[in-house]
Amino acid sequence: MLQSKLFTKVTKDAPKDEVSFNGKILIQAGFVDKLSAGVFTFLPLGLRVLNKICNIIRQEMDKIGGEEILMPVLVPKENWAQTGRWESFDVLFKLQGADEKEYALGATHEEVITPLGKKFVFSYRDLPIMPYQIQTKFRNELRAKSGIMRGREFLMKDMYSFHADQADLDRFYEVAKHAYYKIFERLGLGEITYLTYASGGAFSKYSHEFQTLCQAGEDIIYICDNCKIAINKEIIAEQNQCPICGNKEFREDKAVEVGNIFKLANRFSQAFDLQYLDKDGVKKELVMGCYGIGPSRVMGAIVEVSHDEKGIIWPKEIAPFQVHLILLGKKDSWEKNKAEADKLYEKLTAEDVEVLYDEREDKGPGEKFAEADLIGCPVRLVISDKTLAEESVEVKMRNSVDSKLVKINGLIKDLIK
Ligand code: ATP
Ligand code: MG
Repeated sequence: MLQSKLFTKVTKDAPKDEVSFNGKILIQAGFVDKLSAGVFTFLPLGLRVLNKICNIIRQEMDKIGGEEILMPVLVPKENWAQTGRWESFDVLFKLQGADEKEYALGATHEEVITPLGKKFVFSYRDLPIMPYQIQTKFRNELRAKSGIMRGREFLMKDMYSFHADQADLDRFYEVAKHAYYKIFERLGLGEITYLTYASGGAFSKYSHEFQTLCQAGEDIIYICDNCKIAINKEIIAEQNQCPICGNKEFREDKAVEVGNIFKLANRFSQAFDLQYLDKDGVKKELVMGCYGIGPSRVMGAIVEVSHDEKGIIWPKEIAPFQVHLILLGKKDSWEKNKAEADKLYEKLTAEDVEVLYDEREDKGPGEKFAEADLIGCPVRLVISDKTLAEESVEVKMRNSVDSKLVKINGLIKDLIK
């Protein structure tokens, strides 16, 4: 993509009305725009990152049998009333339709997926199923001061699983847990993301959160370094030893909940009277699990943990572009340098390398470098009088201070391998 064509611009200063670090830097670098507290537009750079996060999640969900769907955002009151959550879910946005019918904007989707399951699940042969969606959720959050980490409108991947019995739910729950580990590893968060024991509700002792260490996070967790798991502060009083090794020595740290998996058991199947016929033709109640991840929160968390004083440092798999190519030149060398840089840009894009190409003539080197550091693509390439004198390109990784000159031809082979 040509940087001159990007309709969004990097701004000199961070916005003053945003308190969170991720919000400040993502707005300044032109990844998102804030419409109001907790409500954001994802701009071209930001949407590229968000889509990459979603695609990683999608791939891992598909691998474990997930089937992607898209449920409505507008959910009628009677669905919520059936589970008692019209009253008890405290952050629902409620509204009235033209037909005087009342709705809530989807804050979670058990009230839609369970009656949906009822239309397709009749017998043990129809189980298990694992539908999921990636969709905008709405929650009237009291505090929305964590940038895109706590939105009133945010993206969620929510998977729901339906099983014939508890044993099958338990089996799939472990499969989903492993898929989550894989996702956070691919997102570059593997080392600092802990499976965290949290309260489980009426039907299981625990639920599990995936908590990423982050000073801007709103949760406090207690880590068992032997087992690399953690316990959420909310249950540490009743769970004062590691559930795996019995250790009582914990390391306290701040974290953000990036994912949550939960055995719902029959909480929703019962509410909607969802049953199936087992092998002997006997009617049985089925059990469910739910599995959430917040892609927009994940994006904010990555910014919080992966940056330096100059800007964002994106992990390779989710960077908006792999390469930021910068063209420099003087008045008399501009056209010649541009011809070389254009050629390199075309070659790389033809090989499917994602390149953001800063070919703007009205910006000086200082400004271009500062913007590249702020935006945070993994590889920076510079073409200038100096590099072309050696038929070379200057290569610098965002996460390193060193740069080196590399012959243009060799470079292409290196980058596309
Ligand atoms: P929290 O405890 O942070 O309020 P939650 O426990 O209510 O979150 P879930 O209902 O389990 O969250 O939602 C699944 C996932 O959606 C969370 O793990 C998180 O990644 C994401 N998420 C939840 N609320 C928000 C929000 N307001 N903004 C962005 N992402 C969110
Ligand atoms: Mg939570």
